[in-house]
Amino acid sequence: MTPNHATPSVYFDNAATTPLDPEVLDAMMPFLTEHFGNPSSIHGHGRKVRAAIENARKTIAHLIGAAPAEISFTSGGTEADNYAAFGSIRTLGLKHAVTSKLEHHAVLHTLEALQKSGEIELSFVRFDEQGKLDLEHLDELLGTHTRSFVSLMHANNEIGNLNDIEAIGRICRAHGAIFHTDTVQTMGHYRHNVQQLQNHFLVGSAHKFHGPKGAGFIYTSAGLQVQPLIHGGAQERNVRAGTENVYGIVGLAKALEIAYRDMDQHQQHIQGLKDRFIAKLRNEIDDVQFNGLSADAEQSLYTVLSVSLPPSEFNEMLLFNLDINHVSASGGSACTSGSNIGSHVLTALGCDPQRGAVRFSMSKYNTAEEVDYAVEQLAKMYRKVPA
Ligand code: PLP
Repeated sequence: MTPNHATPSVYFDNAATTPLDPEVLDAMMPFLTEHFGNPSSIHGHGRKVRAAIENARKTIAHLIGAAPAEISFTSGGTEADNYAAFGSIRTLGLKHAVTSKLEHHAVLHTLEALQKSGEIELSFVRFDEQGKLDLEHLDELLGTHTRSFVSLMHANNEIGNLNDIEAIGRICRAHGAIFHTDTVQTMGHYRHNVQQLQNHFLVGSAHKFHGPKGAGFIYTSAGLQVQPLIHGGAQERNVRAGTENVYGIVGLAKALEIAYRDMDQHQQHIQGLKDRFIAKLRNEIDDVQFNGLSADAEQSLYTVLSVSLPPSEFNEMLLFNLDINHVSASGGSACTSGSNIGSHVLTALGCDPQRGAVRFSMSKYNTAEEVDYAVEQLAKMYRKVPA
């Protein structure tokens, strides 16, 4: 909660974006002030800034086990996902793509656009009622098509389900498929290693791990050269035109460095908060459930808890009521038929649209006191009636 403040202010929407770490801001500041040169300029002002970009690239590459040349900077996760899909499908002339209805729109809408333009046939992997992917179905889909593009995320941003991207990678390799995984929600929260994963693309977005908004990167495995999404100058070795977001890139690398440095400690702290949330909600609210695998510590992202609340007159105003009590969270229940409003993920899972849904997503800055406060606000609406 905001310290020394009469009204509490609780932020539980860290899967949407995270607050900037002051250490990251410190690293960025010189590039907003004294080091203003254009990195493409060959004079001293430019060279200083170019060096900062290349250092950032080296830092990120080192952290994920890649070579610096395999890292390209983007404006964030959405652009990185678009680049991987458009780039590989068009450059390699792939005619088939596989994804799942649980993916983020950055992947889903991109592949649907390619399907609509007639460039690809699009298949969706089946999953069970908790959102666990059917990998035998993936194997089947890849076996019945020639070379495919596969995009399956590491962790779901709404329900937190973790997919086994090593197993998915093995299936893709067996069929010669190109494998892109949207790691936006796990980058900076888990230790990725591309040597172990052996996939083709991996992405990161700084604002999901206490870095700045508008800065991200894509890892493209060596040997795979795909056409750019943005044309113009020769920046990023012709992968992405346009003058680089220098302070964003510096902040991105610093944020990832801090995330890796403190990861074990933060994971333990945040998992503790999540466990507390689950236990308290079960204690205070009748028929509270958790969407997907959200309550399963082994199979879900430790930062995300997707809560399903019983049918109630409060459901429509759930987020509003939390907001007026100074708790920022996000939600969107399953859509009722004919409505576009709500969550495509909960709808695809077949969740009951009568139930309320709220996603609490936590960061290193949250406290146990904040968890208790948020549970109390929910309990005001849904408290168990004593027997
Ligand atoms: N993919 C996932 C899984 C996300 O959660 C998000 C952001 O919410 C994105 C992609 C888009 O990232 P960005 O906001 O950096 O464009």
